[in-house]
Amino acid sequence: MSVKIGAADASALSSLGCGGIIRNAVFPENLEEIRYIWQNYRDFSFVFLGGCTNTLVCATKKEDLYVFSTRLKGFSVREEKLTAYCGEKTAFLSALAYQNGLAGLEDFCLLPGTVGGALLGNSGCHGREISDSLDTVEVFSRKDGLRERCREDLVFSYRQSSFAKDEFLVSATFSLRAAPKEVLQKRRREVGEIRRKALPSEKSLGSVFKKVNGVSAGYYLERLGFKGKRLGGIRFSEKHANVLINDGNGRAEEYKELVELAEEACLREYGIRLEREVRILDG
Ligand SMILES: Cc1cc2nc3c(=O)[nH]c(=O)nc-3n(C[C@H](O)[C@H](O)[C@H](O)COP(=O)(O)OP(=O)(O)OC[C@H]3O[C@@H](n4cnc5c(N)ncnc54)[C@H](O)[C@@H]3O)c2cc1C
Repeated sequence: MSVKIGAADASALSSLGCGGIIRNAVFPENLEEIRYIWQNYRDFSFVFLGGCTNTLVCATKKEDLYVFSTRLKGFSVREEKLTAYCGEKTAFLSALAYQNGLAGLEDFCLLPGTVGGALLGNSGCHGREISDSLDTVEVFSRKDGLRERCREDLVFSYRQSSFAKDEFLVSATFSLRAAPKEVLQKRRREVGEIRRKALPSEKSLGSVFKKVNGVSAGYYLERLGFKGKRLGGIRFSEKHANVLINDGNGRAEEYKELVELAEEACLREYGIRLEREVRILDG
């Protein structure tokens, strides 16, 4: 057996539609391939990625290997437990729960990205966090191979989790509860309406910065005049000042520069050090 490393174009993989060339990328499809990669590519430093809906890859180092979860697919539903590989889309999982009359994931029905990315960043939608209904996660690391981690051993907080840097999230099991489909459908519709009103529909990575003491960073950015501010093909959305959107010909460097401009302005004018929600990988 062999699993080949190759170059990948981050602009084709990211929901922003821009990014550099990833020199070394690999897309394992199962546990056997994961074991092969960890055994045979020991000289590389590993960087883990899912759907790139929260990560911008500007440039990569030759000694880094980008391991994507997006081809790790599969799921099962047993009574009120839903298990899925971490490359499955979170929105798909939410739909699956709905189809099986299970409540707990309906607020995530339109969240872009994979289950692995959502768990790593403890994604939140409309007052719920993805960790709320988590039961167990299987992770793979060089030291321990595949092992199961229980919800009780993990710490989740606002857009944060306690997974170690060398742990690749492989699969997750959620504990859900039976609910009438009409109730779930109603909530899914409400979520759709809320998101259509609040979020720009153009290509983006979602919110750029985390909330500041519970207040959206967009509140400060709007007051600083960032709405609509543009650099080349990237601009702050007129709809939501905390989202940077790509007109179609935007470049990763422009995105990064606008992020830095916003950080500097917020620090200068309000003494606030904005914390990035988006991860920017720059070699
Ligand atoms: C239009 C839009 C709306 C959004 N709305 C929301 C929202 O309402 N709430 C919210 O919280 N987020 C939101 N986001 C951000 C994003 O969708 C979520 O953070 C999503 O869960 C990220 O998943 P991903 O697979 O794309 O992760 P990636 O961007 O690929 O990775 C994110 C992080 O997770 C790590 N990671 C990914 N997969 C694995 C793995 N298998 N093992 C170990 N580490 C891994 C990466 O190293 C990286 O640090 C939005 C984004 C967009 C574009």
